[in-house]
Amino acid sequence: MRRMWSRLLCLFGHHSYFKIKELSDYSVQVGCTSCSKQWGMHHPTKSFVDWDEDLKNLYATIDKCKKDDL
Ligand SMILES: [Zn+2]
Repeated sequence: MRRMWSRLLCLFGHHSYFKIKELSDYSVQVGCTSCSKQWGMHHPTKSFVDWDEDLKNLYATIDKCKKDDL
């Protein structure tokens, strides 16, 4: 029952956020414990976007550049 209630809250945009990963000094990847959705949060612009394939690829590329020290 509690889980159903959480899902209902998700539908109205009240997710149970938790931090997945620090992407940079200004951005973080977050997820919801109830519905398992994920987002990317950018602090300076206060933007909140769905963690889709494009965003995933973007940060995978950034990570790769950091590792290769480019
Ligand atoms: Zn949710």
